[in-house]
Amino acid sequence: MTYTLPDLPYAYDALEPVIDEETMKLHHGKHHSGYVDKTNDAIKGTDHEGTPIEDLLQKLEDLPESIRTTVRNNGGGHYNHSLFWEAMLPTSQKQEIPEELKTRIEEDFGSVEDFKKAFEDAATGQFGSGWAWLVDNNGKLEVESTANQDNPVFQGKTPLLGIDVWEHAYYLNYQNVRADYVKAFWEVVNWDVVAERAKKA
Ligand code: MN
Repeated sequence: MTYTLPDLPYAYDALEPVIDEETMKLHHGKHHSGYVDKTNDAIKGTDHEGTPIEDLLQKLEDLPESIRTTVRNNGGGHYNHSLFWEAMLPTSQKQEIPEELKTRIEEDFGSVEDFKKAFEDAATGQFGSGWAWLVDNNGKLEVESTANQDNPVFQGKTPLLGIDVWEHAYYLNYQNVRADYVKAFWEVVNWDVVAERAKKA
């Protein structure tokens, strides 16, 4: 088996009240797990078994057409969710943005508030299922959204922070009010992880 479901770096209830335990259990144990299984099934017996997920996703056009869409959706899902879990932390451990990253955000967005507004707008404005991202694009920080399980890495950008805005990510707790979920998300961002990704980009 090539890809495996990573353990969460915290308990299922650790993100409450921002993200409820039931949502986390379903999201990790059913949704993410399904993406992993379907990706493994798709690449079984091909030359791509053992390819790191990031490399696989940057070369989607090299995959046989018969599995390309499956890998894009499910491999993308595996990659997106792995990034997502890692970049959150328990509400009891809320963090501020480290100084170096904060300076870069201020340079590229004007202020932290302007960055947050852009990120929230991208998250609430994504029509249907998808994600909003803070990315490093050749040294410049940018915000964008992607549809379904697409990831900015498809275009060679480095994803630093992503929020899942599929309804499965928030519906039990927030129903149709995606904007409240997006605003609450700031309470659980692991900025140390985001800053570390920014350094390596
Ligand atoms: Mn999801």
